[in-house]
Formats: sequence, C-alpha cells, structure tokens
Amino acid sequence: MKKPTRKKVPIEDLIMTLLSTTDFPLTIEKRDGFSHGRIDLHSHTNCSDGSLSPQTLLDRANNYQIDVLAITDHDTLAGLDIAQRYINEQNVPITLITGIEISTAWQGFEIHIVGHNFDQHNAQLVQLISQQQQAREQRALTIGEKLAKCGFPDAYHDAKKLAGEGSITRAHFAKVLFQQGHVSTMQKAFDQYLGKKGRNTQKAYVKPTWCSIEEAVEAIHAAGGSAVIAHPIRYDLSAKWLRRLIVHFKESAGDGLEIVLPQMNPQQRQKMLNYCLEYDLHASTGSDFHHPNKWADLGKNLILPNGAKPVWALWS
Ligand code: AMP
Ligand code: MN
Ligand code: MN
Ligand code: MN
Repeated sequence: MKKPTRKKVPIEDLIMTLLSTTDFPLTIEKRDGFSHGRIDLHSHTNCSDGSLSPQTLLDRANNYQIDVLAITDHDTLAGLDIAQRYINEQNVPITLITGIEISTAWQGFEIHIVGHNFDQHNAQLVQLISQQQQAREQRALTIGEKLAKCGFPDAYHDAKKLAGEGSITRAHFAKVLFQQGHVSTMQKAFDQYLGKKGRNTQKAYVKPTWCSIEEAVEAIHAAGGSAVIAHPIRYDLSAKWLRRLIVHFKESAGDGLEIVLPQMNPQQRQKMLNYCLEYDLHASTGSDFHHPNKWADLGKNLILPNGAKPVWALWS
C-alpha cells in the first residue's frame, strides 16, 4: 500500500496557529467580576516608531475584533485625534483609550511609564510632553554627531526624515543603519551603536534627559489618567533592582504594572502578578505592537491572569 503523503508545514506556521488560539473566546468573563472583550492597551503608530498609520492600525485592530485599544506612542499624543476622527468617520467599532508611553530616567535606567484614559488637553501633561519632545530632539542631534564620527554623516538627517512629523526615537536611527546595510538587523544597531547594557554604553549612546518617574505619574494623574510601568521584564534589572523600581513607583503614587505581554510565559506573568498583589497595584495588558510580525500582534495572547485587578477598574 502506498504511504500517505504528509504536507510539510513550516514550524513558524504551526507556532502561529497555536498562538492565535490562546485567547479565545472573544469575550472573557473573569472570575473577579470584571468582564471585557478583546483589549490591547499598548500599541504604536507612525506618530512615533510604529510602522502603521493610526488609521491602518485601527483597521488591523478591527480585523482582529479588538474592542478596546489604547494608542501609546512614545512621548506624543499626535495619533489620538487622527485615530478618533477615523473611528467617528468610518464607524469603527472600537473604543479608543487615550494613551502615551513616557520615557523616564531612574537610577541610570530608562523606565517607560504608560499612561491611560486621561484628558489629552491637560496643561500639565501637554507641558511635560513638550519638554520630552525637546529632550528627544536634543538627544537625536547628539546621536547624529556620534554616528557621524562612526562614519555615518547623514544618520541624523535620514532618521529625521524617517520620523517625519512624529516623535524621533532610537528605533529610527536603527532602521536607517539597517536599511543602509551598516548592520544586519535592527537589534545589531542597538548592540553596536545605540544601546546600553548595564554600565556598558555603545559608541552612539547618549544619556537622555528624560523626566523623573514622579513627574510622569504626576502629570498623568493631573490629567485624570492612570499610570503603569511598561514591560517590567524588559529592563535587564536583577530581582533586587526590579523590586526597588516597583517600591519607588508605588511611593510615587503609580497605579500598576503591565504584567502581560504576548511574549511572556505563564511563570513570568505569575511573578509580575505576585508583585501586584504584594504592593497593591493594578495590572495592565498590551502587545507593544510596532510592526506586523510573526511573534507578537495586536490583541494576541493578552489575557490577565486570575486574581489581577485590571487597570481599567480605575476608569469608571
Ligand atoms: P527611544 O525611546 O528613542 O530610546 O527608542 C527606543 C525604542 O527602540 C523602543 O521603544 C523600541 O521600540 C526600540 N528598540 C528596539 N530594539 C531595542 C533595544 N535593543 N534596546 C532599546 N530599544 C529598542
Ligand atoms: Mn518603541
Ligand atoms: Mn517601551
Ligand atoms: Mn511601547
């Protein structure tokens, strides 16, 4: 008898199939009494270092049947009005939450604070963001000077062009170096030029002049919003330093931790949940979507573990 022929399936497709089935059904009844649809509270557009326009991001979110989306660009609110206008004009069935990801400086680390559900016209918040924009611009100029010394005289000009009207970030410089063939991946641009690992800084690393954690939390609160530490697992902090950060954040009146990202495993989620329980913090969840890719997408694998107090419980 002839052996049945089996179609070869690429491993990436298998993984994608598994990933895409992890967060159904679409409406989740939580045991803690909160019920919500699909929700993603951390995403980027081309108003900072994301590659999709606010409109295209919303179309993608709509395709994925996401009900609640926060756009959280780096130190800018520019995407929010564009997105809300598109929702109104096209009747997109998505609730947009005002959002921002503010870069802060703490003990030599760059810590990202995500703000949600605030009044985007609040004067204190607008003032802080304008200060952050100046810091970004100044840092970009200095990064450009350093890269020029490394043999890339047009890096600032090219990165600025890529950023357009939006917030200029190191990701724009990384993309320029990658696109021009000076590095083989964006990650290598950080490893070789733009990044910082521990006390070890790379050739084009520039110490930023971001605001403090307290200032970020205070401005978000002044605007009526809530503030969480973005992606606490991504700062290369030892357990001791992570705890110090969380204690400092709590003392600064911070509201919660982003305890769920698509790439986190259940043990990491549990560990972050334990910090929330220990320090009475709320929990946020988001994909940190920047570009379409195989490993993380809008709304994917984002369910909060049981026992977490969702950050949106603060919004009613
Ligand atoms: P910035 O806020 O200007 O410092 O830019 C940092 C952005 O670059 C992050 O939000 C990421 O989207 C992106 N990025 C990509 N790879 C890295 C990396 N290895 N280290 C830091 N940022 C990275
Ligand atoms: Mn980014
Ligand atoms: Mn971040
Ligand atoms: Mn982000």
